Amino acid sequence: MNSMLLEQHEENRMQHFVSDLLRYEDALVEPIEPEGLEVLAPPDVQRALGVGEFSRLGFGTALPPGAQRVGLEGDWLDRFARLLGGQGRWTRRVLSADAKMPSDPERVLGHELVLDNATYRLLGVAPAWTRYLIMDFRASAVSDDKRDFIARLGVNLATGALPDVVIKGLRPFLDRLEDDVASPVEADLPPMWDRARVVELVAKALPPRLDVALDPFIKGLRRRLDRDQDRLHRYHNDLYHEAMRRALVLPKGDPKRVREDQRVEAIAREYRAKLDDLARQYATRVTVEWVQTLELVMPVHRLSVQIRRRKADRTIVLDWNPLARRLESPVCEATTGIERPRLVCDDALHLVVPAGLAPCANCGRPFCRACHPALCPKCGAAV
Ligand SMILES: [Zn+2]
Ligand SMILES: [Zn+2]
Repeated sequence: MNSMLLEQHEENRMQHFVSDLLRYEDALVEPIEPEGLEVLAPPDVQRALGVGEFSRLGFGTALPPGAQRVGLEGDWLDRFARLLGGQGRWTRRVLSADAKMPSDPERVLGHELVLDNATYRLLGVAPAWTRYLIMDFRASAVSDDKRDFIARLGVNLATGALPDVVIKGLRPFLDRLEDDVASPVEADLPPMWDRARVVELVAKALPPRLDVALDPFIKGLRRRLDRDQDRLHRYHNDLYHEAMRRALVLPKGDPKRVREDQRVEAIAREYRAKLDDLARQYATRVTVEWVQTLELVMPVHRLSVQIRRRKADRTIVLDWNPLARRLESPVCEATTGIERPRLVCDDALHLVVPAGLAPCANCGRPFCRACHPALCPKCGAAV
């Protein structure tokens, strides 16, 4: 039930997007039932989308008569990208938010920040502006069929947090178009990151998020591959044993026996070839492409937190987002992972997930992967 609702919701979003885009490009657009659009397209739209002057597009499970199905599958995203050209690849939004932080920020912090080997103390909370970069990527997995996925990666440029849950919670606010407020002065905003820093972050943080997005698809593929391998094995196994049985009752050197032996070999050969075919059929290539970036400017409540480990201390900042109504977790400074708890390293008081302070695979001594991203400092083994 839930997934059906979600599907319907997604389809309507697609229909809205296409309808807005086509109107923006001066097409005449009329909604038709069920879940479709009737379009009168000017020549450049016809060219970009590969449709005629009059066309009907369908977005639901049932199509209006004569409609083409539009969805994430197939090449529709490419066609819309062609229509958009370079426009809309980078947009900026300034949202307002006046929600107050819950009256007990210590408690909010206690929920979000779990440190296994250090203590911390809330120094203060102050209103501030932040800037998020919210990047959308399209991943295409091509095997015996082709599927497209959208992965979203958002980073808070003030704190370096990668607040997946907060970014998800912002989605309804991003869909609204009328809310923008005046931008604060640049000096009140965290500085824009340079390209190299963003690229480095994406290289680290995107792959694990893509794995999550692709997981159901890969699992489905693996299930089908297992099933097909089983079927192949059963079929050839039966043939093989049948041929063996026939061969073994015949005396060696008998021409009939030779023929049966050859048949046994041929079955084994065919089985191996069929297995190779299957492997080729299911081999999956994933390509990733950046689609768009949203620069989102909005007010937050900024918490200053002092981390203490042994005799050392360090102050970090974490933002509470008033639209998502959540405190953002600190980023793992070694892996960009978001799983909890965090551990604090001795030398620089980096906050890392447990894997970021794991023992060296070679010498067994633990070390911080944020301090030493490439080599173990004790034995020099590569990470
Ligand atoms: Zn080592
Ligand atoms: Zn460290």
